[in-house]
Amino acid sequence: MDYQALRKIMVEEQLIPRGITGERLINAFLKVERHKFTPQDLKDNAYADFPLPIGQAQTISQPYIVALMTEILDLSGEEKVLEIGTGSGYQAAILAELAKEVYTIERLEGLANKAKELLSGLGYQNIKFKCADGTLGWPEEAPFDRIIITAATSAIPLPLAQQLKEGGRLVLPLGENFSQVLTLVIKKNGNLESENICGCVFVPLVGGFS
Ligand code: SAH
Repeated sequence: MDYQALRKIMVEEQLIPRGITGERLINAFLKVERHKFTPQDLKDNAYADFPLPIGQAQTISQPYIVALMTEILDLSGEEKVLEIGTGSGYQAAILAELAKEVYTIERLEGLANKAKELLSGLGYQNIKFKCADGTLGWPEEAPFDRIIITAATSAIPLPLAQQLKEGGRLVLPLGENFSQVLTLVIKKNGNLESENICGCVFVPLVGGFS
């Protein structure tokens, strides 16, 4: 398999026609080897236009959704980003290409360890890992310029709202099981202002504040 060619096709057929055109973002998608983040037997589907199972009943999102959430975060390269739901680590790798520092939390130890090993092996030094309930955030490292929640919840966990910097952006799938709205939240004068982006489907956020 020529994975580099598959990445180019993914970008040209799935991202650019849907309006994902930022050069830094496109370059990150051309660079990060998504097939290293999917299970061995699904590698040949790694660049396809759908989510894939990664074990323990969890999924790696469709490439376009990863791109859309990242675009909405509006990263210049200077940001400190908190990700809730490390999963395979693919979204964390994309974030690490585009932001200064990434703090990622996963509640399932098997996935957390695997992602840490993979991303460390790939040479990422700007990603910090934690295996814990991400709805509590990472208070020692707060505040964050950006927060991304890659699992669905019906309300924004309070600790995460508190750990978002003034002027900061938070993106999450907001709603019930099997149907949510991808939502952008911006903190302005201490208030959270929300904007609906599109419908989406994520696995549930499971934690004390979900
Ligand atoms: N961003 C991932 C996809 C994540 S799927 C990727 O790029 O592959 C959602 C993940 O959120 C799952 O791995 C699930 O275990 C995790 N999760 C659910 N609730 C959580 C919580 N409270 N804290 C941390 N992780 C959580």
